[in-house]
Amino acid sequence: MEQKLAELKARLMEASDLYSALSVLEWDQTTYMPPGGAEARGRQMGLLGQMAHERSVDPAIGRLLDDLQPYAESLPYDHDDAALIRATRRQYEKDTKVPKELIGELITHTTNTYQTWTEARPANDFARVRPLLEKTLDLSRKVADCFPGYDHIADPLIDQSDYGMKAADVRRVFAELRAGLVPIVKAITSQAPTDDSVIYSHYPPQQQLDFGIGIIKQYGYDFNRGRQDLTHHPFMTKFSSGDVRITTHVKETDIRDALFSTLHEAGHALYEQGINPAYEGTPLNGGTSSGVHESQSRLWENIVGRSREFWEYYFPQLQAAFPDQLRAVSLDQWHRAINKVGASLIRIDADEVTYNLHVMIRFDLELALLEGSLEIKDLPEAWHNRYASDLGVTAPDDRDGVLQDVHWYGGLIGGAFQGYTLGNLLSAQFYGKALEAHPSIPTEIGQGKFDTLHGWLKENIYTHGSKFTAPELVERVTGGGLQVEPLLNYLRTKYGALYRL
Ligand code: ZN
Repeated sequence: MEQKLAELKARLMEASDLYSALSVLEWDQTTYMPPGGAEARGRQMGLLGQMAHERSVDPAIGRLLDDLQPYAESLPYDHDDAALIRATRRQYEKDTKVPKELIGELITHTTNTYQTWTEARPANDFARVRPLLEKTLDLSRKVADCFPGYDHIADPLIDQSDYGMKAADVRRVFAELRAGLVPIVKAITSQAPTDDSVIYSHYPPQQQLDFGIGIIKQYGYDFNRGRQDLTHHPFMTKFSSGDVRITTHVKETDIRDALFSTLHEAGHALYEQGINPAYEGTPLNGGTSSGVHESQSRLWENIVGRSREFWEYYFPQLQAAFPDQLRAVSLDQWHRAINKVGASLIRIDADEVTYNLHVMIRFDLELALLEGSLEIKDLPEAWHNRYASDLGVTAPDDRDGVLQDVHWYGGLIGGAFQGYTLGNLLSAQFYGKALEAHPSIPTEIGQGKFDTLHGWLKENIYTHGSKFTAPELVERVTGGGLQVEPLLNYLRTKYGALYRL
């Protein structure tokens, strides 16, 4: 058994190394690559993706899994080897259903589409990406159809990122959340708008970056095993346990962009850096779902990084870094400005209260596209209509409308957005549990200390990687399932105080 397990791990490591090489190329493409490299890069990534896929569907892996099954069954459920065999089996069965030609075509296509999007968005030119997006929709349906027997065509795509969830489950949770959010939004937006002009002063980029880096070092992000670079749409990527990178985006006249995207991506990176290094090169070596991943980015960005205690500690330092811009601003004014609630156009800049309404719009549009009830050519108008009806705002163009998010232009249509809201829900559930275990956490945050919180998250969530599925992990940590009420309670308490509701 030992020999077979070692052989399985060696084969998994090969596939994982190829996927990591692919990730390096992707990271380079979105950070430093000149536009002229795009076409060849799409081809190179397509080839590497096919090679990695071939390794991961090698029938030898299937045979090893069969041989190892009795061993897995003889072990306790939470034994590392049992989890490895279970997770590999799940991945293998999924991977073997998608033909390698489709994988290669998909990677080449989305790489080219991403490049076109980086030019089409600033030019406000949806027509340029439209035919590419039509093909993406077609390919997304083909991927879904590799998994026949679904209830909804989005189910197999959702399952890839949030295992165990179906479109109907997500719809039910979203409806419950929306019913709780709308009255909070109404109560706040009926008040006089908050003055947040302080955010839009001129802030030199390098000082903005330095300030964010100072905070995430305190969070515990390890720069010996990571780095930060600039990109269009910030993301985190992992090449190995020893190399977990983040990216950001700086606006000279909006201090929130670099600051909060840095805290956000660092949250993703803390999760990946915290995974048991023994899982390197196996399917266990990564966050367990996009929802759980997002729970960590949003926890560090919002629950910690937009809290009153956090800024009691950091605001004097921020004032010292930007004296001309902030000398005359009080902590109160700053805290209200960065937590201003209002209907807005851009998801990643949205406040915590309205954010999930942005996600719901995208999720519904994705489902309509996959169902065939909405065509790509009508997508920009459908986008504007939903923003008007849900948030009461209309973008002046497609740049801040349908072109704003990278997801549909850099990946599949379907399965990309639900994780954001699932993550927000889970962030409140997990943080509540951390506070039960350590009521001193808010006081410590007010002293710039994050060790207790980081340690609790590491022990209860990070170290496990993908050893447990998201539903299993949530059950272990919270003693129950996914819940809407903890997030609503968090929002009611925080914004009730801020807006004296
Ligand atoms: Zn994120």
